[in-house]
Amino acid sequence: MENLLSQARALLQGSATVTVFSGAGLSAESGLSTFRDKQADALWSRFDPAELASVQGFEKDPGHVIEWYNWRRKIHADAQPNAGHRALAQRDTFLHVTQNVDNLLEKAGVPAGNIHHLHGTITRDRCHNPSCCHEEAVELANPAPMRQCPLCGQLMRPAVVWFGENLPESTWIQSRELCRQTDCLLVVGTSATVYPAAGLIHLARQHGSKIIVVNNETTGASELADIELIGSAGNILPRLLDNVAICPQ
Ligand code: NAD
Ligand code: ZN
Repeated sequence: MENLLSQARALLQGSATVTVFSGAGLSAESGLSTFRDKQADALWSRFDPAELASVQGFEKDPGHVIEWYNWRRKIHADAQPNAGHRALAQRDTFLHVTQNVDNLLEKAGVPAGNIHHLHGTITRDRCHNPSCCHEEAVELANPAPMRQCPLCGQLMRPAVVWFGENLPESTWIQSRELCRQTDCLLVVGTSATVYPAAGLIHLARQHGSKIIVVNNETTGASELADIELIGSAGNILPRLLDNVAICPQ
């Protein structure tokens, strides 16, 4: 592992631009379960997130979906960035494309303007009516119950991207551009199975980026990696990034 870590550091040192592409595994050590682990709260573990996090699920039973999100929001309210987020936050030249809907990169100190939330954010609600643009901030510790949009009367919903929905267009365009231009893509804690997001790893590679993968298991990204560091993000990222002079610009 030490040998791989020093190869990865050398690769970062030789990269003028670094983009971090993260997934739920980055936040797992902050107590936010990934969708694919088996330790979800007993109350909700019998529900499939893919069904709850979908337009069909919401339209079938909106109260149930809002209740699930509000349960997650209360967990997010108490969650703190872990050593992985903190190590990334020390690098203020790194740009971030994240699939995470949490705000732990921001809480760790990454400027909000450096983060592209591909799948939206749990910290806001928006109107479910596609032609209405009303949005509201949400207090994570005390989220509002199911309610109607004050502008058009349709239901408010979390400002996240559900399975089957399109990604926010400008975020998607900017994320693709970043991945086309970056010298190194640092892929952290993603199974690389949710598309189109996972396609960004292929795109970066096609445009000549080096790929470093940090994950606690091999994934769909493994075969694209120049260097793969298997282990937890909270353990590997500080070892990779702390006290190492990289990205001097
Ligand atoms: P995923 O659950 O598909 O994959 C997570 C990957 O991280 C897995 O390969 C897992 O083995 C790995 N992992 C788990 N713990 C780790 C750790 N401590 N260190 C390193 N790796 C670890 O997640 P995904 O690829 O992000 O896709 C799932 C979708 O679910 C995304 O669309 C995302 O928006 C959503 N989601 C978000 C959150 C969040 O915001 N925190 C949580 C759950 C799901
Ligand atoms: Zn509305």
